[in-house]
Amino acid sequence: MKNLGIYVHVPFCVKKCNYCDFNSYSDIWEYEDAYFDALIGEIKKMSGAEQYCVDTIYIGGGTPSAVRPENIIRVMSTIGEQFAIAESCEITIECNPATVDFEGFRRYRASGINRVSMGLQSANGEELLRLGRIHTLGDFENSFNDARRAGFTNISLDLMFGLPDQTPDKWQKTLSRAAEFGAEHISCYALTVEENTPFSKMKLNLPDDDTQREMYDLAVDFLEKHGYARYEISNFARRGCKSRHNLKYWRLDEYAGFGAGAHSFLNGKRLANEASVLKYISGAPPECTDESGEDLMSEFMFLGLRTSEGVAESDFSERFMRGVDSVFGDILKKNENVGAIARKNGRIFIKPEFLYVSNSILCDFVK
Ligand code: SF4
Repeated sequence: MKNLGIYVHVPFCVKKCNYCDFNSYSDIWEYEDAYFDALIGEIKKMSGAEQYCVDTIYIGGGTPSAVRPENIIRVMSTIGEQFAIAESCEITIECNPATVDFEGFRRYRASGINRVSMGLQSANGEELLRLGRIHTLGDFENSFNDARRAGFTNISLDLMFGLPDQTPDKWQKTLSRAAEFGAEHISCYALTVEENTPFSKMKLNLPDDDTQREMYDLAVDFLEKHGYARYEISNFARRGCKSRHNLKYWRLDEYAGFGAGAHSFLNGKRLANEASVLKYISGAPPECTDESGEDLMSEFMFLGLRTSEGVAESDFSERFMRGVDSVFGDILKKNENVGAIARKNGRIFIKPEFLYVSNSILCDFVK
């Protein structure tokens, strides 16, 4: 049996945040049950499910914790009926503070979910308001404590830096407060102002590139001193607590995505579901992108080099039947010469001090 990750997309949110361009909506609640009926139908229809053993499940969104827990439990039961599930399966649900209470967490835990990813974003009340978040720091604290009381021993929290009017000092306060919670995993993302979001229409006083870099370095230093090792550009974990599901994306392992706009990577092919929730409910078929072997080689490098562990030369040659230097030799040499990429014990990786500027290095691998 092959291992498989499962992603389930839940596109409902209480309110749209000012920076958000995810496939999520606050005005489609009347379709909640119809959406979950379609989602369950899609999971049941997946062909070849019997050849897989599911070892990670990620219920993301949107705000999965904002829908009725019954619907989440229906999804969990359907996955359990359709697939063999590994005993050690990592099962994550994304939750936002103030959308779920102790009873909700207890029900998630009873359904087999064993990891919570919670959006804190900032510990500063003004910044939270500015972002358009619906919660306060106090709400986050209550939700975090409820999740712990319900038995969750693996909790991740999300933070954002580079916010309007944010200074390194304010960011440091958010980091310190976040570390006090003692979560097992912390993600830190730089704010990007995406088109067609409320932020894109506002005049914002954003930190300049040097200040953003300072904030990122602050996070790396501070989190590493507090027991969180960086294992991907934006992700930090205590020992044994890396996100196994996200590692699948970076390692180009197989995963199946269910729900509106969800993507799958199966048998070397990418599939994308219809993004419109209403069209998805009415049964629009997924689109398949046929990628060439070269595209996959580029992706393997592009994704793998985001992680601290980088890529194993032997993994590359086993997968593509070619040595990595025969395909990317020039690019590797160029980056090794400037000291940005190194090799050790058969692995190729971006040096830690270059991870922040890795985008320019990674783009070299996309032909
Ligand atoms: S809660 Fe998350 S998915 Fe929903 S609008 Fe805010 S950022 Fe977007």
